[in-house]
Amino acid sequence: MPETLFRNGALLLPDAAVLENGWLRVRDGKIAAYGAGAVVPAATDEVVELGGNLLMPGLINAHTHAAMTLFRGLADDLPLMDWLNNYIFPAEKNLTAEWVKWGTLLACVEMIRGGTTTFADMYLFIDTAATATEASGLRAVVGEVLYDFPSPHYGAAENGLKFTRDFIQRWRGHPTVHPVVNAHSTYTCSPALLQAANEIAAEYDVLLHLHVAENEAEVAQVAERYGARPLKHLANLGLATPRLLAAHMVHLDDEEMELTAANDVKVAHNPVSNLKLVSGVARVPELLRRGVAVGLGTDGCASNNNLDMFNTMKTAAVLHKWDVRDATALSAAQTLTLATAARCLRLEKITGKIAVGLAADLVVVDFSTPNMRPCYDRAAQLVYAATPHNVRDVMVHGKWLLRDRRVLTIDENEVYANVEIIAEKIRRAVGRGN
Ligand SMILES: [Zn+2]
Repeated sequence: MPETLFRNGALLLPDAAVLENGWLRVRDGKIAAYGAGAVVPAATDEVVELGGNLLMPGLINAHTHAAMTLFRGLADDLPLMDWLNNYIFPAEKNLTAEWVKWGTLLACVEMIRGGTTTFADMYLFIDTAATATEASGLRAVVGEVLYDFPSPHYGAAENGLKFTRDFIQRWRGHPTVHPVVNAHSTYTCSPALLQAANEIAAEYDVLLHLHVAENEAEVAQVAERYGARPLKHLANLGLATPRLLAAHMVHLDDEEMELTAANDVKVAHNPVSNLKLVSGVARVPELLRRGVAVGLGTDGCASNNNLDMFNTMKTAAVLHKWDVRDATALSAAQTLTLATAARCLRLEKITGKIAVGLAADLVVVDFSTPNMRPCYDRAAQLVYAATPHNVRDVMVHGKWLLRDRRVLTIDENEVYANVEIIAEKIRRAVGRGN
């Protein structure tokens, strides 16, 4: 396998430190060495000229439902229950493995073009989603969503548990597709189902990915049913562990903040979705002060409506400044750390930064476009000015997924044609024209 040598550009190192005039060598899918100054390539090297642009670790989307790209823009500006009952649930009733395949591939194209190299996916027909993700070359933690009601995929909940165990056994050890356990939430999963899911996560030492404390109605419902707020309820059941990836965590009281930190619970923060659905604002600066591993997510396209991590970074940074009335809160450097937070997915030994021995999950960001000029601070430019259009090249595990803005692993036109066919069926299912 030829080695790849990036040279003549900036490298984004941990804690948003920038090494100008840098080079980086990739060998066997991993970062083999990096440094600054002149470097002489070997005759067999693939040389990538950075041309003053920036090489950074790929962005990590800590919470999404990839195939929900199919429902992008289907129903906006609606109250949650109207949105769910009259649009999302009728559309999802028709869900098939075929839909999940094309929806996931559309998501992968969007993420590759947006500089995302790793994502946490929670959805149905997850074997199909995993296969599509594998074909795209992206890295992902992937699991089938479990809940008490019958699933269009596996039927009864017991089948879901069995499916999850088989799924983990099938995909365990894969270099880029990491199987995990997913359960929907404390209001859609019985304590028995949550504990059974947690047992599987413990047995295989994988993440248990769950929606937690997204909005006030959920907190009230769980408190009434179980006598404890969602995170406290999970702690009572023995689920507040370092394996728990809790998406949202918008409504935590002080005791729950403490439980989160003390048990090293991971948090996926979804600022755009939380604002759009008027769920509230997670206390992210405080979670960070307590040392909690927080990552950034987009959530699904039905509530965002994109998978753009640049947009998510900017929203997070400006939202938390306003929320705590402090312009120094959530700096660009901190925001970048959140957007590459591999620890949140328990992948810190594999990806998330430029460091020797980690996977070559790398993105070249073009700093030559008008929105990136002039540049006084690379980190600030990435968080406040960059868009997916600035992503020039993407590599995962040493393999090219995007080169000079061309997607190499997926036939984009085939994806778009199939998505249009599915969209026509969805229009008919919910009685909506163009
Ligand atoms: Zn979600």
